[in-house]
Amino acid sequence: MTTNPKYIFVTGGVSSSLGKGIIAASLAKLLQAQGYRTTIQKLDPYINIDPGTLNPYEHGECYVTDDGAETDLDLGHYERFLNVPTSQANNVTTGRIYQSVIDKERRGEFLGKTVQVIPHITDEIKHRIQILGNSGDYDIVITEIGGTVGDIESLPYIEAVRQLEWDLGEHNTCVIHLTLVPYLSAAGELKTKPTQHSVKTLMESGVQADILVCRTEHELSDSIKTKLARFCNVKKEAVIQSIDASTIYDVPNLMLDEGLDKVVLRQLNLKNEEPNLTRWNEFLSRHKNPKGEVTIGLIGKYVELQDSYKSILEAFIHAGAENEVKVNIESIHSEYLSVDDVKRKLGHLDGVLVAPGFGERGIEGKIEAVRYVREHNIPFLGICLGMQMAVIEYARNVLGLNDANSTEMDEQTPHPVIDLMESQKDVVNKGGTMRLGSWDCKVEEGSIAEKAYGTQDIKERHRHRFEFNNDYKSKIEAAGLKATGLNPETGLVEIVELPSHNWFVGVQYHPEYKSTVASPHPLFVSFVAAALKYKINK
Ligand code: GLN
Repeated sequence: MTTNPKYIFVTGGVSSSLGKGIIAASLAKLLQAQGYRTTIQKLDPYINIDPGTLNPYEHGECYVTDDGAETDLDLGHYERFLNVPTSQANNVTTGRIYQSVIDKERRGEFLGKTVQVIPHITDEIKHRIQILGNSGDYDIVITEIGGTVGDIESLPYIEAVRQLEWDLGEHNTCVIHLTLVPYLSAAGELKTKPTQHSVKTLMESGVQADILVCRTEHELSDSIKTKLARFCNVKKEAVIQSIDASTIYDVPNLMLDEGLDKVVLRQLNLKNEEPNLTRWNEFLSRHKNPKGEVTIGLIGKYVELQDSYKSILEAFIHAGAENEVKVNIESIHSEYLSVDDVKRKLGHLDGVLVAPGFGERGIEGKIEAVRYVREHNIPFLGICLGMQMAVIEYARNVLGLNDANSTEMDEQTPHPVIDLMESQKDVVNKGGTMRLGSWDCKVEEGSIAEKAYGTQDIKERHRHRFEFNNDYKSKIEAAGLKATGLNPETGLVEIVELPSHNWFVGVQYHPEYKSTVASPHPLFVSFVAAALKYKINK
């Protein structure tokens, strides 16, 4: 295909949360569907090295890649749309940029020069952008710049874009600016001024937007498009309307109708063909025309913020489409779940997922939920902390090990059925030190997991410090809760199942990170199928 990789930059203006990640992922989908090898990168202007140390309330879910990077949740959208794994190189923060420049300075690599934002920080940003392009794996690299133009912290990024446009020359780069065109109900009008100002702010840094993608609640009329084009100095065909959609999975088709791929490819001097969206549209049609529905309870302590469980919610959408059912999610706050109301809150559900998490808050509610679904044969999936809670519940209520716990919650517990991994005992730093990324797992023949995956050899992504304590394994297995997936090298328990139950699976890893539109996660597919079966036989 192309010899030189092409670079597309996506910047944001007027407001945050306009959905740059979805626009970037949708454009990437359209380019990929025309045969271009495309990847997406996110540059985050905050000073944390990565979002791994951020509270989910601050930043939503922390997404984990195969190579163990703790990243922004937008990377999840990129993988779900493109079905191509991302890596550490796909998410870069200001913290990471500064860290590498400062490390170089300490090693004396700047040969006595004064180290400055320009050129040293901007050079490092340019280098990070080009790592993906220079890998030879991609024809097109889309770089999404977090934040909003005009923010002090985005300035070095915008300057790096300006320089790269100059370095790479005409037809090798394209700048898309995502803005908001608000509707003022008092005036009954859509307003272009915020977009004009934001394009002007971008220009003050020397960057001219090539394409405007305008988020709007109402159709942009021809005259509004002309006005935006004229005052923002872009071609009229380069004013793209992005109207609110009922599902994010509609956005690629909406962008296709608006011709976003066409203007981008023209700007980059690349051939534009009809994208092949057959598989995508098959998924959409199944997603939009369900033949039934199931209701799953999602038990977690960050349920107020939907973004905290983004990948889980999306995995249910993929698995629902695969099963041709709508999956209704009922979010249940684990902190307010007790033995007195568990029946009222869970009794009507067709399945229950106990979510990942950290720390003590809400764990007794999670344990109570596991007890209820175990005793009532309701399909259950426990993820990471959710799996650990299933083990604790079993130890307490079936084995009679009162006060069994994880040493994360109670260091003095007499029965540490979940304990700190040996490799974690000397770890001091919090950031980037958990058991992270993809690990092998051998699945037991005939288990629920083996039937779901259709294989005994799987690789799944992890993010935890604590583990099933193998000192208790034989006792717990003898009582009925089986370890059906093990790490082949270390013997760490990765999957537990209850064969006497309808469908009861706990996994130490995070299956949700690997679910995509093209490849819904087998465990979620099997769980939704079990929920449907349970509902029918209720
Ligand atoms: N807090 C638990 C651990 O570190 C579970 C982590 C998780 O749910 N991701 O092991």
